[in-house]
Amino acid sequence: MDSFREPSIQGREEPPLEDRALRPQRMAEMVGQRGVYERLEIAIDAARKRRESLGHILLDGPPGLGKTTFATCIPNELGASLQIASGAALAAPKDLLPYLTNAAEGSVLFIDEIHRLPAAVEEFLYPAMEDFRIDITLGDGVAARTINMPLKPFTLVGATTRAGLLSAPLRDRFVIREHLDYYSPEELAEIVRRSATKLSMPMDDATADEIARRSRGTPRLANNRLRWIRDYSTSRADGRLDVDIARTALTMQGIDEMGLDGFDRRYLETIQRVFGGGPVGVEAIAHTMSAAPDTLEDDVEPFLLRCEFVVRTPRGRKLTPKGDEHIGGPAGRGRLF
Ligand code: ADP
Repeated sequence: MDSFREPSIQGREEPPLEDRALRPQRMAEMVGQRGVYERLEIAIDAARKRRESLGHILLDGPPGLGKTTFATCIPNELGASLQIASGAALAAPKDLLPYLTNAAEGSVLFIDEIHRLPAAVEEFLYPAMEDFRIDITLGDGVAARTINMPLKPFTLVGATTRAGLLSAPLRDRFVIREHLDYYSPEELAEIVRRSATKLSMPMDDATADEIARRSRGTPRLANNRLRWIRDYSTSRADGRLDVDIARTALTMQGIDEMGLDGFDRRYLETIQRVFGGGPVGVEAIAHTMSAAPDTLEDDVEPFLLRCEFVVRTPRGRKLTPKGDEHIGGPAGRGRLF
C-alpha cells in the first residue's frame, strides 16, 4: 500500500534487505534495554487489559539501537496494525492526513526522525495526539472555516536521534518517553549469537565476543559486521569461521579493536592534527572532513563521547588524552595552525 513506507534509517551503513530477517518481531525476542522493555511491557499490558489505546511513545537514542524494532514489535504485542512514516518526508499537513485518517482504532503510527517535522505539520499533529481530532481549514480570508474531523484513537510512536531538537509542546504530548542507550558487550554478543543462528552460521563464543567488542555497542553494526564476516568466510576461508578469521575480516574493513571505523578515526585525527586537539566547533570539523555536521553529531560523536575519546566544552570539541592515545598521539603533532 502506498501509505506504508519503509522507515528511512540514518547511518553510514545502510540496512540491507536481510535486516528484516534479523529484526526481532516480538519484544520478548529483543535483547538488552531491560528498563525500557519492562516499562513498555507494563504500559502495553495495561492498555490491553483496559481495552484502551496505548499512550503516545517517544523513543530517542543514537541510530541502530532498536527504536524501529521497538516500534514494530509494539503493534505485534497489541495485535494491532502499523503504519510507518518518516518526519523528513512529511513536508506539509496534507502528507500526514492519509496516515491519520487510515489509522484504525488502537493501531500504531510510527514516525521516524520526528525531529524533522516542519512546524506546520507538528501543529497539525497536536489535536490529533491530544483529542484524536484534526482541524482542517477550508477557503481563505473571511470565507475561511474550520472543520473538525474525529479520528480513531491511535498510538503515535515517535523516534528521534535528537530529542533536544523536539519542541517542548510536541515532547510534552508523549506520555511515555524512553531513551535507548548503547548495549553492553555481553548483550551485543547475545544478539550476534542469535543473528548467527538465523543466518545458519555456526559460531563459538570467542568469535561472538570479538564481533560484539568491535561493534560500538550498536546492534545494527553488529549485524552488518556479522554479514561481512560471513561473506569473508565464504569467499576466503572455505566457510570456516573462528576468532582470527573474524578479526582479519574486520581489520580489512578498517575496523579497529574498539570497533571504530576509518570515519571515526578520521574525526579524531582531524581534531588532533588540524585543530591541535581542540577545542573546535563541530561545523569546522565537518567542513574539514567534507562531512555533514548532522552525520557527525548523530552518528560519530555519541559513541566517542561515551568512550571518553572527546569531550564537549562550551568552546567546542576537545580530544582527551585517551582519544589521543587511541590514534597514536601526542596531540598537536603535525598541527597545521
Ligand atoms: P534504530 O531505529 O534505533 O535506528 P533499529 O531498530 O532499526 O534501530 O535496529 C537496527 C537492527 O538492530 C534491527 O534490524 C535489529 O536486527 C537489531 N536490533 C536492534 N535492537 C535489538 C535488540 N534489542 N535485540 C536484538 N536485535 C536488535
